[in-house]
Amino acid sequence: MASVNSISHLPYFFGNITREEAEDYLIQGGLSNGLYLLRQSRNYLGGFALSLVHDKKVFHYTIEREISGSYAITGGKSHRSPVELINYHSDEIDGLVCLLRKPCNRPPGVEPKISQFEDLKENLIREYVRKTWNLQGHALEQAIISQKPQLEKLIATTAHLKMPWFHGMISREDSEHRVLLGTKTNGKFLIRERDNNGSYALCLLNEGKVAHYRIDKDKKGKLSIPDGKKFDTLCQLVEHYSYKADGLLRIITDPVPNPDFHLTNGQLHLGQTPTLPKRHSTKSLSPVPGRSNDSTLLASFNNYVSRAKRDDQTALPMDTEVYESPYADPEEVKAKNVTLDRSLLILDEQELGSGNFGTVKKGTYEMKKGKKTVAVKILKNENNDPAIKDELLREANVMQQLDNPYIVRMIGICEAESWMLVMEMAELGPLHKYLAKHKDVTDKNIIELVHQVSMGMKYLEENNFVHRDLAARNVLLVTQHYAKISDFGLSKALGSNEYYKAEHYGKWPVKWYAPECMNFFKFSSKSDVWSFGVLMWEAFSYGQKPYKGMKGGEVAQMIERGERMECPPACPPEIYELMKLCWTYNADDRPPFSTVELRLRNFYYDIAE
Ligand code: AMP
Repeated sequence: MASVNSISHLPYFFGNITREEAEDYLIQGGLSNGLYLLRQSRNYLGGFALSLVHDKKVFHYTIEREISGSYAITGGKSHRSPVELINYHSDEIDGLVCLLRKPCNRPPGVEPKISQFEDLKENLIREYVRKTWNLQGHALEQAIISQKPQLEKLIATTAHLKMPWFHGMISREDSEHRVLLGTKTNGKFLIRERDNNGSYALCLLNEGKVAHYRIDKDKKGKLSIPDGKKFDTLCQLVEHYSYKADGLLRIITDPVPNPDFHLTNGQLHLGQTPTLPKRHSTKSLSPVPGRSNDSTLLASFNNYVSRAKRDDQTALPMDTEVYESPYADPEEVKAKNVTLDRSLLILDEQELGSGNFGTVKKGTYEMKKGKKTVAVKILKNENNDPAIKDELLREANVMQQLDNPYIVRMIGICEAESWMLVMEMAELGPLHKYLAKHKDVTDKNIIELVHQVSMGMKYLEENNFVHRDLAARNVLLVTQHYAKISDFGLSKALGSNEYYKAEHYGKWPVKWYAPECMNFFKFSSKSDVWSFGVLMWEAFSYGQKPYKGMKGGEVAQMIERGERMECPPACPPEIYELMKLCWTYNADDRPPFSTVELRLRNFYYDIAE
């Protein structure tokens, strides 16, 4: 992966400069056709931007880092690094205004501008993985490489929770009151949460009046003021509007501190209210030294990391053993080979489970780094039904595209005496069975596990996959504190569609299905949210069957009447509230996984403190 550090030696890389600064450098460089420079994206995590001159005008292209770790100009071809992308566009126009002809190098003495935010993130992720998973050397590097995008995102997308300008869910009236309290400096601002669906408001003081700007989250999780620039995180949005009004009445300057805001580890001294940077001249071409609000970021990250260190229970479990599938090996990527060598696979007699497709057996697979215990889904030999084989291959096809610590990873498929799907092993088996056998598992432990499932589902939602069979039986445990989502037999990639429409009724787990699935055959991440509510009910009922003794039709009627299952005895009321929210009748009014995950995370951290 091309970290900022690994490309900062490139003479045409300028670091975290603004669009305007890039234009100034290109003007200085002579504005010749095809002159270009590379800079770090200020709104997309891990992304870059390419600024290119054509006809005396400067064009800016965002280079996004994709989930796979590759880089692409939105909608364009993927490349392994920004440098590869630049080399490619030196020969191929492929959608750009012109070819990249000449790099615009940094003037002598100018170093790439390093955002302390980026630098900090890099170090803190390393520190976090090293301390939390007690890894060193090669294993540490492997874990960082394989998990970095998720970790980085987790750390950066939660940073605002510890920012003094973030006031949580307060009313519009309260926000006005807070902004108007004390000095009436133009540019005073705060951010409040508007609802549970990832919508916020920026409240800005202008000439004695408070203006409220909505900030909405789109399907891909990007935040923006309507028609404004999109950002991955609230922190980036705040940073942007603090240097550029970009449609607002004025730039934001002074954060109104949240009265409830305090940091327990004393790393931020609130006597000195953090201020945001004043607009700096776009003509200033020398690297700008550390900004004053970096101290706020630093405090927030320190707090996050020290909290994770303080209480191991709050740490997110990760794959410390990195399962390497053959297709993850760069040398074999070309062939996209997911077919495994049968002679390297040894099957155990032990059966882990079975279904009408066949059985799941334990086994070992000889990987480059040694033998790994694996779970192997084997199609029944006598099963000549092509539909079942197709289902297995479809499942493999979906799993191959997923890479998340809370989703069972596929290692590959093998066509031998029968078709086999080889997966990483989750030794403790399905969640409902485990909880039925272990009634001593605490509610905190259950919250931890369902929170992990919500993280895996949030990943699917962000990547437009619907699971369609989310239930406690399809959550497998690696340990009592580590859950993974499995069974992608019914899953679909939505692509750019809002939902998947089934052509006809199938063998469906109707007690887990939302009304729109039953009534209109419509499946979306929101219908997975409904199933997640049922899954939480199963978990807090220690593996009981939902709607016990009722038939599918009776359940549907009960839901239509507006009735829902009752709160399981061991379930905290806050969690039952969330379950009922997941069972909101209209899909549009139901919260997305991004909200459900945040709610569970906050609740878990609150009780874990
Ligand atoms: P499935 O058809 O995918 O639900 O698998 C049937 C059963 O096989 C599950 O309920 C588990 O008991 C077991 N199983 C499936 N995949 C795995 C795995 N990756 N690790 C451990 N057990 C598994």
